[in-house]
Amino acid sequence: MKNNIEDMTLEEVQYLIKRIEKGTLDESRDKEESQKKKENGQRLVLKLIEEFGELAENIRKNMRFDGQNIKGTIEEEVFDVFYYIVAIANYHEIDLEKIFY
Ligand SMILES: [Mg+2]
Repeated sequence: MKNNIEDMTLEEVQYLIKRIEKGTLDESRDKEESQKKKENGQRLVLKLIEEFGELAENIRKNMRFDGQNIKGTIEEEVFDVFYYIVAIANYHEIDLEKIFY
């Protein structure tokens, strides 16, 4: 894993998001594992749809990142959509670099 986020490969970004999302899964380890895993997969899709809605709103309002505060901007929501796309790929054990090529 590289120290600079700018130098990260897609594979490394995917691994990083997998580590972040694993925390969410670990919380539910003891409670009906497979049902919780399925619910987590559905949660990721619902979050993606939610983030698309936020992206649409910020595009409609033309809210751009000014270099100071990214909250409520198109840039923030593009990242959020990307994050959940990667998390969904991880959930289904899809290697994004492999399918990209
Ligand atoms: Mg968002």
